[in-house]
Amino acid sequence: MNSTRALRSTNQSLDGWFRWVKPMHSHSDVSAPLMTLSFDVEEHYRIEAASGIDVDLKLQGDYRERMRLVTEWILEQLHEREILATFFVLGQIAESNPKLVRSIADAGHEVACHGWDHRRILTMDRPMFWEDIRRSKDALEQASGSRVVGYRAPTFSIVRRTAWAIDVLAEAGMSYDSSIYPIRHDRYGVPDAPQHPFVVRGVEREILEIPPATLRMGRLNIPVGGGGYFRLLPYPVTRLALSLSRRDHRCRASMMYFHPWEFDPGQPSLPLGGASRFRTYHGIGRGRRRLARLMSEFSFIRGVDLASQLVANSDDLPRFSLTR
Ligand SMILES: [Zn+2]
Repeated sequence: MNSTRALRSTNQSLDGWFRWVKPMHSHSDVSAPLMTLSFDVEEHYRIEAASGIDVDLKLQGDYRERMRLVTEWILEQLHEREILATFFVLGQIAESNPKLVRSIADAGHEVACHGWDHRRILTMDRPMFWEDIRRSKDALEQASGSRVVGYRAPTFSIVRRTAWAIDVLAEAGMSYDSSIYPIRHDRYGVPDAPQHPFVVRGVEREILEIPPATLRMGRLNIPVGGGGYFRLLPYPVTRLALSLSRRDHRCRASMMYFHPWEFDPGQPSLPLGGASRFRTYHGIGRGRRRLARLMSEFSFIRGVDLASQLVANSDDLPRFSLTR
C-alpha cells in the first residue's frame, strides 16, 4: 500500500472513532469558545519547502494573481457566513496590491503582519527584524487604513533561539503574537510551550501569545491548527480538539490558520521532492469543502478581539519564558 492510500485508510477508520464528538452550533451557544480563523496571505512560491527553487518572474506573477483571486473567494465565503477573520499579510503585498489589503480591511476583517517578504526570523538579527517589522507594519497600515497589532512569523520562526523577537514585537507596539507552535517539528516549534493562550516572555519584554490549535494526546501535542495538518488529518480530529478547548473554560481559545493557495487545486505545482510534495499538495482538492464545514460548525472572532478579551483577564493566563 502506498503512503497516500495508507493515510486515507487510517483517516477513514479514525473518522469513525471521532464521530461521537458533536459539532457546536455556536450562534445559540453563549459559552462558545473564543476562536479565530486566520489566513496567511502570501504567494504559493514563498513556502519554506520551495526555498531552494528558482521560480521565474512570469510564474511568480501567475501565483500572485491566483493568490488575489483565492483571497477574494475567501472574502466572499466569510461574507456569506457573516464571519470576521484575521489576515496576516506580507508587507510586500501591501506594496504590490494595496487594493487587496484595503478590501480585507473594508470588509471588517483584521489586517495583521506576516513580515515583509516571508524571510524567517532565524535568518535575521535583531536590527534586521526591527526593520522588517517597522517596514511591513507601516505598509500594511497605509494600505488598510487601520492599526496593525497582530503578528505571525513566517514558518512559525519564533523559537527559543529567536526569543529576542518577542522584545522587538512588544517595542513595535504589537498587542499579540501567533507564531509559537507548541509542537515538535523539524523546522519550528517550542514543544513545551503552553497549548492555549499565554503571556510569553522574550529576553526582557512580554506579549500575549495565541498559539495555533493543538490536540493533547498523552505527552504529545498533535498539530491540528491548519495548513497541511488540517488537510492530512481526518476532520473530526480538528473538531475534537476545538470541542475539548471549549470544555475546559481556562483554555477557551483556539487559533486556526490557512493560506489562500490551499484552496486553489488548479494551481501549477512546484517541483518539490517526496515528503514536501506530499505535505504541500495532499488533500488540496478537499480544502474548500473542509473550510466550509469548519465555518458552519463553529463561530469565530478576529484575533485582535480575542486578544483584547484575553488581555482583560491576563492574570488568569499562564506565563512562559522562551529563555528558560
Ligand atoms: Zn507564511
